[in-house]
Amino acid sequence: MSNHFIPESVFLKGAKSFGSPFWLYDRATIEARVREVQVFDVVRFAQKACSNLSILSLMRKLGVVVDAVSAGEIVRALRAGFQGGVGKQTSQIVYTADIFDADALALVKEHNLAVNIGSLDMIQQLADYGIRTELMLRVNPGFGHGHSRKTNTGGVLSKHGVWHEQIKDCVKLAQKNGMWITGLHMHIGSGSDFEHLAQVCDAMFDLSRHIGGHLKTISAGGGLPVSYHENEKNEKIDVQAYYELWNNTRKRIEQSVGHSVSLEVEPGRYLVAESGYLVSEIRAIKKQGDNTFYLVNAGFTDLVRPSFYGSYHKISIIAKDGRSLNETHPAIVGGPLCESGDVFTQEEGGFVVSRELPVAQVGDLLVFHDTGAYGAAMSSNYNSRLLAAETLYSNGSLELIRERQSFEHLLQNERIIEL
Ligand SMILES: *Cc1c(COP(=O)(O)O)cnc(C)c1O
Repeated sequence: MSNHFIPESVFLKGAKSFGSPFWLYDRATIEARVREVQVFDVVRFAQKACSNLSILSLMRKLGVVVDAVSAGEIVRALRAGFQGGVGKQTSQIVYTADIFDADALALVKEHNLAVNIGSLDMIQQLADYGIRTELMLRVNPGFGHGHSRKTNTGGVLSKHGVWHEQIKDCVKLAQKNGMWITGLHMHIGSGSDFEHLAQVCDAMFDLSRHIGGHLKTISAGGGLPVSYHENEKNEKIDVQAYYELWNNTRKRIEQSVGHSVSLEVEPGRYLVAESGYLVSEIRAIKKQGDNTFYLVNAGFTDLVRPSFYGSYHKISIIAKDGRSLNETHPAIVGGPLCESGDVFTQEEGGFVVSRELPVAQVGDLLVFHDTGAYGAAMSSNYNSRLLAAETLYSNGSLELIRERQSFEHLLQNERIIEL
């Protein structure tokens, strides 16, 4: 296991103090991942993976900067202490998207934020709004990669980035409006497929020639993979080798443009996934024919990845009373929602499968591992479920970093009109 060890008593105490389900993030794991990736000049956290203010603040303390993909994420970044502004130093906040909405444009202007452009229209809209800022260009190199059809980030069927043949038009449009494109960005998600990565690096080199002398930053994007399966735990990505490939590309680009170029990486998942646990309680155990079901008080409103992508998360059980859990049997784990897809043990395509799990009792805790990325961040209020509490385990103590939502919160923006 690559995770730092957390005593079972911490989970039990957390459930008592904050109620279940709740999220637990381990600070030491986040710090270890950040240090690993800091071989790159700049580590930019893709906050959409886990955007709690305390997590963002921790990232800032560790020397990490952030990416914001919406107006709300800009507000979060500012609240966590990151500053706007573009200039000689690395921009602490970069807005990356394929469109602007009115809120995002206003915030970019107010805080003078750098923008990573995903469409020609965005350049025009900046100009129309009276903004002159530094631009990065998120490029779709014409091919993609991704761990599921829903996460593919390049090619003709991807909505992301500027099509590679349109770079020249972007450069022209920017210059006409007094802006420079100073960065190139590709978020393709090549994972640990180094052959594919070499192809991405070559594409970056080729594209850099369209930008020329103004280029000061290239970004390798995110997509560093995490092994979610227990039996893949020693197939960890070689971050150093990943860096070397990019560093070589950077050097080739430096030679061609004749000055130094900063190399950024933009991981989301890699920095936080393994730090996180979703802690639920088993509320019912029942048989459907020969199948045993453990029904827990967390649903896909908390952790959607299994239902949405067929993602695998390791599951462990913590006995409520400290009894030993030696005996195992196959069980299916489901949640409380009125939705047949509310099952955590399923494969891509929605096929429900069972998992060999300890024989448990109602009241035991059932813990989903490696849920720090795209866990709490993708939670919803469907079925009028409350967003769960988030906690950070730091220096041996567990601290609340987001209260469980209240029913008051849930309903605060609704009104009953006269009918
Ligand atoms: C989602 C996203 C990332 C992070 O992806 P991970 O797979 O979590 O590393 C990085 N950059 C951009 C622009 C993204 O949208």
